[in-house]
Amino acid sequence: MEQDYYFPKPVPITEVEQLKKVFHRFTFHYFPFIISLMETEGIVLKRKKLSNKLCYLSVFLDNSGKIDILAKIDLRRFPLSIEPFSISNFKLKFTGEKPELVEVKLIKQNFPETLNRYRYLSLITGYMNRMVYAPNKKIYELSKFYLSIKNTFLLASTMFLVKLSYFEGIYPQLYKCTSCNFESISGFSLEKGGVVCKNCMDTTTVTWNSNLSSGSDILLKRSFNSLPIRKKEMLKKIRETFEKHIDYRIGNEQTFER
Ligand SMILES: [Zn+2]
Repeated sequence: MEQDYYFPKPVPITEVEQLKKVFHRFTFHYFPFIISLMETEGIVLKRKKLSNKLCYLSVFLDNSGKIDILAKIDLRRFPLSIEPFSISNFKLKFTGEKPELVEVKLIKQNFPETLNRYRYLSLITGYMNRMVYAPNKKIYELSKFYLSIKNTFLLASTMFLVKLSYFEGIYPQLYKCTSCNFESISGFSLEKGGVVCKNCMDTTTVTWNSNLSSGSDILLKRSFNSLPIRKKEMLKKIRETFEKHIDYRIGNEQTFER
């Protein structure tokens, strides 16, 4: 797949360093009380104010996935480092069950200048907040890139959802009926998680055609900067269907977990 976001050149690391990394990731998730301090980069997804000097942050960390942090910070000073959509460096302390914020430094702010950008950024962090838990370097880099975009929001949000569903392993089957493999497409079944033929349509089937399938594949494989699709109606339909598809899958998982 063509990459449209910046991947830093891999630094050669020794086996010991590699082992340290694995150990760190493992202990952080299963035995967080063992580690007392940790420093890492992350994206602020959500902030819940408890008082003027206390809040909860939902953060997607570069190396550890999504966590909730308790932050004692004077919110009246309007700290950009813990503003939603910001990329910051977090120093965390593990004492009890919730990690606590020791220090935070802003790396890049994505403060929305317009209502349209606010809606766009909220869509991205909203899906990350509901969908992604485990550490995932590709999703981290993908989100970081798409949070930095300042125009062409319809294309950007559609591309983000298509790529996110791929990296999360729920990219739909788009060329053959998901149920019976028949090659004539009549719709997209939310329940079956992909396109279906006339005989396999169900009550969750929404309108879809093979042009939209090719369009989705183009959005998945091409880079944002090449502006691969300009047809607004097509983008709207793909975005709407991928939103429904993701919502349906998240909904099912939640039911399953209960
Ligand atoms: Zn079928």
